[in-house]
Amino acid sequence: MKILMVTAEAVPFAKTGGLADAVSALSIELEKLGHDVRVIMPRYYRISRDKLRLIDGPMCVHCGNDEVWTAVYTTNLTGGKNIPVYFIDHEQSFGRDGIYGTHQDPDFGDNPRRFSILGHSVFQLCRKLGWYPDIIHAHDWSAALAPVLLKFNERWKAEFSKTASVFTIHNLGYQGNYSKQNYPLFGLDWNNYYASGFEDYDNINFMKAGLVSSDMLTTVSPTYAQEIQRSEYGFRMDGILRSRCGDLEGILNGVDTVVWNPSKDKKIPVQYSASTIEKKLQNKLALQERMGLEVNPSVPLFGIITRLADQKGVAELFAPTYGCAYRMCTQMNIQLVALGSGESWCENEMNVLQSKLPNFRAFIGYNDELSHLIEAGSDFFLMPSRYEPCGLNQMYSLLYGTLPIVRRTGGLADTVQNYEEATGKGTGFIFDDLTPNSIFDTAGWAVYAWYNKPAHIKAMRVRGMKQKFGWDISAQKYEDVYKRALQKIGF
Ligand code: ADP
Repeated sequence: MKILMVTAEAVPFAKTGGLADAVSALSIELEKLGHDVRVIMPRYYRISRDKLRLIDGPMCVHCGNDEVWTAVYTTNLTGGKNIPVYFIDHEQSFGRDGIYGTHQDPDFGDNPRRFSILGHSVFQLCRKLGWYPDIIHAHDWSAALAPVLLKFNERWKAEFSKTASVFTIHNLGYQGNYSKQNYPLFGLDWNNYYASGFEDYDNINFMKAGLVSSDMLTTVSPTYAQEIQRSEYGFRMDGILRSRCGDLEGILNGVDTVVWNPSKDKKIPVQYSASTIEKKLQNKLALQERMGLEVNPSVPLFGIITRLADQKGVAELFAPTYGCAYRMCTQMNIQLVALGSGESWCENEMNVLQSKLPNFRAFIGYNDELSHLIEAGSDFFLMPSRYEPCGLNQMYSLLYGTLPIVRRTGGLADTVQNYEEATGKGTGFIFDDLTPNSIFDTAGWAVYAWYNKPAHIKAMRVRGMKQKFGWDISAQKYEDVYKRALQKIGF
């Protein structure tokens, strides 16, 4: 099959979260299955043109009455054999820092135009290359215009008559809501304003349009696929998702085990595997030293790596007077290390806490190397997410013998098995309610097991390290979804 991935981010070029990892890893795995996979994304300022090859000739993209001239650059995706990545180069729209926005301005005002250019470029690029995909696979709201244009403007043209669309929800919490004054940019007739799904309480909603207009829908874990059909998790899209439940599949993301493998990880001081798990301790001591904590093998060390966003349960951890991190560090004999960046109140609060507590250390910012050390050096990993479409860190933790403490939601529920004291079974610790007390009590339960059930802790670690989270399994499931999408349009 010929598959075109449409995305705002892909590693190693641009990343804000798990979406970037998923798009690249899935592309590589689909190529291994014999498919012709290509990727289209914007060229942001940080992606240097020097390492890319310019495709001859400018490309004209019509965003409604707006005529936009872009250049197209290309290179091969790292890790794949021959997966061309096409970068849409439009200085005015993408030649700036930030993918969707910046720290100060999280949502650029011209995002409808920026991602309209991406959506329209999909079809112009294919024409330029003379290459027409069987599947257009769009990822998240920023790519949602592509399936909409396919359905309403392009499929009746011969070259796209056999092309089906798949839309993957990586995070329903980000939908791309803007004024309807932007609608003319999409080059869609006003008659299609409702039918396309763009209309949303008299505004436009990219995500909704993708959900309504794509042939098949997927999201990144089976439990999240169920949860988003309920109002609690549906971000107002639950009705649409219920109406399309027959076309919606939950496929768990995999882990890039070339990068996240404790026996080969060059970013950690000492490599280890399930059979040499005692060496993990050296990484704990290195982490304690690096973060300025007491170097002590016996005190349980908790790690956190997260975007500091409400989704991740950071209020329940760090909100002044409300969060439980302070109580955890003062009432339990533990150490806590947190790596993250995001909402400023939370960054400030973490800094206040580390100035008060000898056993809490925070690193504010994005630091890939430290994230590896935290995964390898921690005994427990805290992930109290309000919702979690898939989540990567709990899987990294399992593979690194670090026991996850998670809320039972989305991909966390699909990947972690709860500890059973009677049998010693399980791979982590699970709680249901997102409250500071639940986090506190579950952390306390883990500390209890640490001090009183060391054999269980070791067995759980080894069990976790033997879990398989390969992309090969997921890619086969996507292959089935592509076949179903083609069947839906009669092929
Ligand atoms: P989300 O995409 O919702 O942020 P995921 O768990 O799916 O959550 O993926 C987050 C990815 O970003 C993981 O690979 C995680 O390790 C990484 N990450 C998040 N914050 C940081 C940080 N401050 N420093 C280094 N890596 C981070």
